[in-house]
Order: sequence, then C-alpha cells, then structure tokens
Amino acid sequence: MGFVPTCDSVPSLNLVYFKVVVPSTFAQQLSNYPLHYNWAEDGFRYLAYSFYLKQKFGKRVQRVSIDAGFTCPNADGTVAKGGCTFCDNRSFSPSRRLPRQTILEQINAGIEGLKRRYKCDDFIAYFQPATNTYAPVEKLRKFYDEALSHPKVIGLAIGTRADCVPEEVLDLLEEYAKTTYVTVEYGLQTIHQPTLDWMNRAETFAQYVDALRRSKGRGFEVCLHLMLGLPGETKEMMLETAETVAELPVDAVKIHNLYVVRRTELEKQYERGEIELLGHNEYIDILVDFLERLPPQMVIERISGEAPGKYFIAPDWCQDKSNILQTVEETMEERDSFQGKEFLARQGKLELK
Ligand code: SF4
Repeated sequence: MGFVPTCDSVPSLNLVYFKVVVPSTFAQQLSNYPLHYNWAEDGFRYLAYSFYLKQKFGKRVQRVSIDAGFTCPNADGTVAKGGCTFCDNRSFSPSRRLPRQTILEQINAGIEGLKRRYKCDDFIAYFQPATNTYAPVEKLRKFYDEALSHPKVIGLAIGTRADCVPEEVLDLLEEYAKTTYVTVEYGLQTIHQPTLDWMNRAETFAQYVDALRRSKGRGFEVCLHLMLGLPGETKEMMLETAETVAELPVDAVKIHNLYVVRRTELEKQYERGEIELLGHNEYIDILVDFLERLPPQMVIERISGEAPGKYFIAPDWCQDKSNILQTVEETMEERDSFQGKEFLARQGKLELK
C-alpha cells in the first residue's frame, strides 16, 4: 500500500520507547495516584503505547495498516473542498478510491513486513487513511468483519472525524467492543477554532466534545490526534490544548509536530514562506510541558511523526524518530519531569518543588 498522508500520516504505529533507569522519585510522587498500568514503577516517564499494549495483552502487539478505500467528507465536497491543509487527499476522490488489494491481502502483506522487523504474532487492524466510518453501517460491518476474520488480528483501530460518528456507527463500534479490542481515533489536532479554520478542518471543537461525550462508556478506547506548531499558535495555546484534553473523556493521544508533505496546500504555503515550523529543541521543550499536563493514565500513542522520504519536505529533524524519543527521555530526566506532573499539581495532588 502506498503512503497516503491523512488524519494520521504515520504509516503504522510501532512506537519504540527507551527504558531509562531513573531514581524513583517521581514513582514515589505518583504512588498515591491510582495508575492502572504502573509505568512509573517500571522506570518510564510517560505511558508509552507499546508498554501499554504489552501490559494489556501480556505480549507484543503491532498495528497493521489497512486502506479500505474510504474517502473523506472534507475532501469530497460534502462539508468542504480540498481537505485539511496538511493532508494529501487528492487520492480520496471516490472515483480513485479503489483499494488495490482486499483487506485480508493487505493484512497478510503488512504482517509479513512487520514480522521481518518485530518478533510479534498478534496484530491490531488499523483502518488508517481517510475517514474510516464514512460509509453505511452495513459496509463498515463488512470491512471490519473481514479484518477480524484474520486469525492474527486481535483488535481494530479506526481513524475518523467527529462529524462521521452518528449513533448507529457508535452502536456498531460498541457491539465490536463487547468481544474485541477497539480503539477509535479522532483527528482533533487543536482546540483552537482559528487554527481549525486555517487547516480547513470544516469542524468545530464543540463537535469533538459532542462526539467524545457520545463515545464515552461504550467499551471502546478513544484516542485524539494532536499537533504542535500549528500556524498562529503560541506555546501557551498549545498547552491550553493539553489542559483541555486532560479534562475530556479520552484514553489516549497521538502527538506530533506540524510537518510538510508533498501535494498539499501546506506545501504551497511553506514554499511561499508563509509557514514557520518548530525547531527540534523547541518541539521537545513544548512536548515535555504538554506531557506534564496530561493525566498519568492517558496512553501516549505517539510523540513524533514522519513520512516516507519521497513525500516528505520539512523539517528534516522530525524524520529521526529515535533521536526524538531519546531527547525527550533525556530532557524529562534533566527536568525531573514525568507525565502528569503539572496535571496532578493543578489538582493539588502533587506538590511541585
Ligand atoms: S479529515 Fe479528511 S482531509 Fe482532513 S486529515 Fe483527515 S482524511 Fe485528510
């Protein structure tokens, strides 16, 4: 499957984390907080997804990406034209959305590739490009059933938008969640409406709050996609997003910096010199502050994003995922930082020295 930059433009989620042996001061500080997965005691500074999955399933689990041929209401003209500024959605027009392989063929090919890199025998089918609930329920059921019929698939991850989860779709997802692991990923990116307007999201933050409220208590996990370094946003605005997300019914987040890929409106804006991208150090600094403002039980599914070289334009540093992960660990150690530090302090559950 080719690369299709979209709500979540990382081809598959194989988040590697560094285990740093640290003095357990923050583990002690967190000891009064009820953590379902006690990452702090294991020496981690945030709840990384790979750690979470290993605790949850008792073994390594990887995601395998599926392009089921969905389009997007933001790209096909239903709610807007052109799609999000950063998204290469030209291939989402209905006439061009014919998947080259069946879902089972894609899973088999994906597993083969993943098995060359990871010792893993269990997989989550990740419906990734475009809006993966944007179809009648019976069509969705057919796709999800096909993925789950693969003997090595133990769950579903479904990327979508807040305006594409009517009650019947949420009922369907709830039905799957009774028997299998399901996570639904909403591409919020920011809480700030002027930025959502800049990115031509054609959605409001209020729509996301409503979708989260209607998703709550249905048995599936909810993940939000968030971006740092969006045009016009100050550090304070980005941290305001973290503080707001911390109060929402959200189980997990994916975070990355704004980066430019080819064939997007963002590419044109960048070429015209209208866009400033975060530098490496600036991103790490904001990211660590951001993590401190999230609750300690929220799963951090991703802290970096990258695209295949032939699609990628800038900034170069974000293509080095290992370096980002390592620098985040080192910075957190230097700052005696951990996920939830500010969140707990704000709640009066932690005294900051
Ligand atoms: S909402 Fe549609 S246009 Fe926007 S990033 Fe997602 S798939 Fe692309």
